Amino acid sequence: MVYIMKININKNYLNLKESYLFSDINKKVKAYKELNPNADIIRLGIGDVTRPLPKVISDAMSKASLDMSEKDTFKGYPPEFGYDFLRERIKSYYERYNVSLNLNDIFVSDGAKSDIGNLLDIFGNNTILIPDPVYPVYVDTNIMKNNNVIFINGNKENKFLPLPDDSLENKPYIIYICSPNNPTGAAYNYKELALWVSFAKKTGSLIIYDAAYEAFIQSSDIPHSIYEIEGGKDVAIEVCSFSKFAGFTGIRCGYTVVPSNIEVDGVYLNKLWGRRQSTKFNGVSYITQAGAYACLSDEGILECKKNLSYYMENAKLLKDFFLEKGLWFTGGISSPYIWLECPNGMSSWEFFQFLLEKCNVVGTPGAGFGKNGEGFFRITSFGTHEATKEAIERMKKVL
Ligand code: PLP
Repeated sequence: MVYIMKININKNYLNLKESYLFSDINKKVKAYKELNPNADIIRLGIGDVTRPLPKVISDAMSKASLDMSEKDTFKGYPPEFGYDFLRERIKSYYERYNVSLNLNDIFVSDGAKSDIGNLLDIFGNNTILIPDPVYPVYVDTNIMKNNNVIFINGNKENKFLPLPDDSLENKPYIIYICSPNNPTGAAYNYKELALWVSFAKKTGSLIIYDAAYEAFIQSSDIPHSIYEIEGGKDVAIEVCSFSKFAGFTGIRCGYTVVPSNIEVDGVYLNKLWGRRQSTKFNGVSYITQAGAYACLSDEGILECKKNLSYYMENAKLLKDFFLEKGLWFTGGISSPYIWLECPNGMSSWEFFQFLLEKCNVVGTPGAGFGKNGEGFFRITSFGTHEATKEAIERMKKVL
């Protein structure tokens, strides 16, 4: 029996579009499998890691779990902002890129997605600039808050790296930048990112910089952190994650850097975020943080990079194949994603069906990432070498 209450809900949630992308993909694959039970489907749509954790990390987590069973090493609630041992390691990681952070600017969390959503707690209503196509979380969390969202166009002309231009008003925005980007795999170089930093300075805007894929960067031309750009610390909050770098999608750990010098309305953002976290968040488990600490040891970084290289070998195979076929794409160099223009003017769902039926290969239609994703297709390198090679062999016959 439905029971009707009389309290108020956040009606902004009713403005969210249902997210059918992955359920539609699964439905279509299921329907195809029912008609073709012997079809050997290869999934190149996965946005999740598949390589197991390096042993150095799982060993550290096992040891930490044993610590919890001893009187002398047992730990209760963790510090809300993260153990200093991990914050120190994160600070040292940034020093690799000549970025010097204050320990108090680093807030450890259970992942980038939560931080991206939760950050909006400390802001009032603002005008939001979001590139299209985009990681859907940026848009949906702003709809939940009834913010005015303006999209900036990523397209073939700007290689899916939109830059500030005269069409934008000279007023303050919250700007979302994800580089290397999901879904397009495109990444801003130093010069391009500097244009966003100077636009933010000129307009009094804040950049929320999502560096979840920084560990995939292979080119020295591309910054790992927005704080490598002069003035970055005056205008940007940076969100990062152990998910893709270390295979932590199932373990959950990330962090957000809120520079202590940024002030709004006489209040420091760092203080506000600290207040928000200490009120609503009780920290990340000791075992998880011990694992994250091991990721950032020299050995941990080396082992994680081996997994990343595995994915990037797949990306190279795919990239070389699409190049050979003369297809247009972005990504695949400093990113696990390849963003392909659908051949012969196909829509992204037409190409999805084409690949499914002709090659038994599944990818992700670009239309699921925004209006400008129509006509494009996301292929990922998170599969095995064998599956990736087999998919390429099959695609060779029809593309
Ligand atoms: N940011 C981007 C751009 C992502 O693609 C993802 C996950 O796919 C996340 C953040 C989420 O990261 P986490 O697993 O740390 O929540």
